[in-house]
Amino acid sequence: MFRPGFRRFASNLTSSASEFAYTLQVSQAQGTVNGFVGAIGRTPLIRLNKLSDETGCEILGKAEFMNPGGSVKDRAALYVIKDAEERSLLRPGGTVVEGTAGNTGIGLAHVCRSKGYQCVIYMPNTQSQGKIDLLRLLGATVHPVPAVAFDNPENYNHQARRHAERLAAETGNAVWTNQFDNTANRRAHIETTGPEIWAQTNGAIDGFTCATGTGGTLAGVTRYLKEQSEGRVKCFLADPPGSVLYSYIKSKGALTERSGGSITEGIGQGRVTDNLAQEIDLIDDALHISDEKSIAMVYRLLDEEGLYVGASTALNVVAAYEMAQVLGPGKTVVTVLCDGAYRYAERLFSRGWLQGKGLLEAIPERLHKYIVL
Ligand code: PMP
Repeated sequence: MFRPGFRRFASNLTSSASEFAYTLQVSQAQGTVNGFVGAIGRTPLIRLNKLSDETGCEILGKAEFMNPGGSVKDRAALYVIKDAEERSLLRPGGTVVEGTAGNTGIGLAHVCRSKGYQCVIYMPNTQSQGKIDLLRLLGATVHPVPAVAFDNPENYNHQARRHAERLAAETGNAVWTNQFDNTANRRAHIETTGPEIWAQTNGAIDGFTCATGTGGTLAGVTRYLKEQSEGRVKCFLADPPGSVLYSYIKSKGALTERSGGSITEGIGQGRVTDNLAQEIDLIDDALHISDEKSIAMVYRLLDEEGLYVGASTALNVVAAYEMAQVLGPGKTVVTVLCDGAYRYAERLFSRGWLQGKGLLEAIPERLHKYIVL
């Protein structure tokens, strides 16, 4: 009897083992789940074949783009809403308010529709019309507000908080889900993502790395893996340009001014959020990943693996590749495939946009056939 676990990811699968892997998937597909929220999680762990063969390591990506709302943030959206319900801040017909420009809003809008809540989203008015349209068609009320820094009271997060406070005072049935500092976000990953990765690798995992937006994924998965392995699994932060966390970890606690930006949407941070704060000492090291490396990996994953992913996913995979080189041959490194490229296609695959960002040269000539927009 084939033991389910890490070895089924081996590149030299025998035909009976690969048949077994197929049967396993079919048996997992049996049965039904309860509504949209029942379909969140239990995502596959994909062996990135070319990168694994090249490094002599197992480089595995947690396919979070397969969540029903299309990203890793479905897990956090479900948990912050469940938390509000459990604390009796939200009852049927209530309103969920959040400040978000991206995947969290989409996840919340889906979960709200499926549970019958109203969803109100504040976002900086620099965001694309496409994002606003998507949230509106998912039933959310969207407030685009001036794009000002977090320390300004008119920042979208503070506006969301005040809106929720007003509504809660009037109706007693509204909540600001506060993804950055609400640790129910991290709990989603301690209770689901971490355990799934541990089970899917049969505990044969040596390293985990991912980038942070709120920090929920990195903190939650790190906490679980460190506990299970009694500290053996190494956990690295992957940081884009413009984020302060790389130097925070390298300097063991010095917070610098944020400067510059990155093409990687949804990640990079200017402060230690509450989601990160309790676990940041567990992080072993940090990797700084340039936009040039991330964009090249977007194209490489498409060409070699058939994976159509966003830039934060590509950054994570570059980090996993570099972590594999640090840990050495024979090790298993897991990262997160956060979302698909669908929402970013008009930028990531546009010659004009790539030229404007000075990134065209970062993409090898043989992959320019994918620059179709
Ligand atoms: N990638 C993408 C595309 C995201 O939208 C986010 C969340 N903002 C992340 C990665 C990071 O996830 P987390 O908030 O758990 O740090």
